[in-house]
Amino acid sequence: MITSNRMNNLHPYVPGEQPKDRVYIKLNANENPYPPCKQVIKAVSKFVKTNPMKMAVYPDPDSNELHAAIADMLNKTGGVLCRAKVDGKHCEPSEEDKIPFTITPDMIYSGNGSDEVLSFVFYAFFDSSKKFVMPQFTYSFYPVYAGFYNIPMDTVPLKDDWSLDTDEMLSRAKNNAGGIIFANPNAPTGIGLKRDEVRKMLKSANPDEIFIVDEAYVDFGGESCIPLLAEFKNLVIVRTFSKSLCSAGMRLGYIVANPELVNIVTTVKNSVNHFPIDAVAQVAGKAACENPWYYADCAKKVAEERDSFYNFLKEKGFYVIKSETNFLFAKKDGVKGEDLYKAIKAEGLLIRHFNTPGIEDFVRITAGTKEQMSALRTAFEKVIG
Ligand SMILES: *Cc1c(COP(=O)(O)O)cnc(C)c1O
Repeated sequence: MITSNRMNNLHPYVPGEQPKDRVYIKLNANENPYPPCKQVIKAVSKFVKTNPMKMAVYPDPDSNELHAAIADMLNKTGGVLCRAKVDGKHCEPSEEDKIPFTITPDMIYSGNGSDEVLSFVFYAFFDSSKKFVMPQFTYSFYPVYAGFYNIPMDTVPLKDDWSLDTDEMLSRAKNNAGGIIFANPNAPTGIGLKRDEVRKMLKSANPDEIFIVDEAYVDFGGESCIPLLAEFKNLVIVRTFSKSLCSAGMRLGYIVANPELVNIVTTVKNSVNHFPIDAVAQVAGKAACENPWYYADCAKKVAEERDSFYNFLKEKGFYVIKSETNFLFAKKDGVKGEDLYKAIKAEGLLIRHFNTPGIEDFVRITAGTKEQMSALRTAFEKVIG
């Protein structure tokens, strides 16, 4: 019988369920409830119709046009869509999100979803000789990569209010000398660190060790650390098209970092898969970046629904954390997360619960459209009373 020793270190990530047995309202995987903008659909249709040969030949391995479009979008939005100032199709950063320099395409690396990008970042910057530091509760794919690449990890418990224990993370990072990663805002809690708090961390962290901030959710109301790239050469910011850019199905993610670090990750990519982003996804991603006004509007609507459902949960006696993301993390005394999930599923809606010790009481609820959230309210009233 064939066995594989490598399997011992593999503990695959389990994504939010995508059931096929019936049509559910999906509020379990932090996807965007809105489709990509019309310009994306038009660009993709036109591309496949007029350039069929572009699907017969290899795409641009380095997605150069996409990188230029991503850089441009970040310069126009400050990297926080929900606060961007929109006037018709014109978009500019809010005062607090202004980036004090211009992001250039050589500061961008992109890949097949930020999951793949993260995996290459782990491979490039962490190694088996030193522990890297991460919060105990954060994106649950990080420990999966650690197992895959055989990198030891040092997990730091959250504080009592579920926020990051930044002092403890720093002191462990100093002991280990192996780098830091966390999501900001964090998942599944929804709590963000202010840019100044991250700056303080970076100032006392070892400048020769990598410092990775995963900004998957920052467009819904957090503070981006992109402005800190001018001050800190060890900072890598990871972002995705899956949440705020309505494109989880396209599989597009990227990093923003100094060009030297971008080159390192590009070398990893070219040692695994030259062409992680197909020709169609490159076109779709570029068109999305050219229309940030649309996604800013979507992010604002989602944030509004999130805050209004926060109030609803409070009224219903839930413990619920104020969120800067597109989801809420909540629990109610005497109600198990899994039981609530099952009861809501029976009403035709999917939310997420966790079997991880310490957060089994919680559910994570993605903010959807007004109509979806109204259906969810009805289901909660029926189930909770
Ligand atoms: C959703 C998510 C990702 C992965 O996004 P993809 O680009 O779809 O692979 C990465 N990090 C965090 C924290 C996420 O929530």
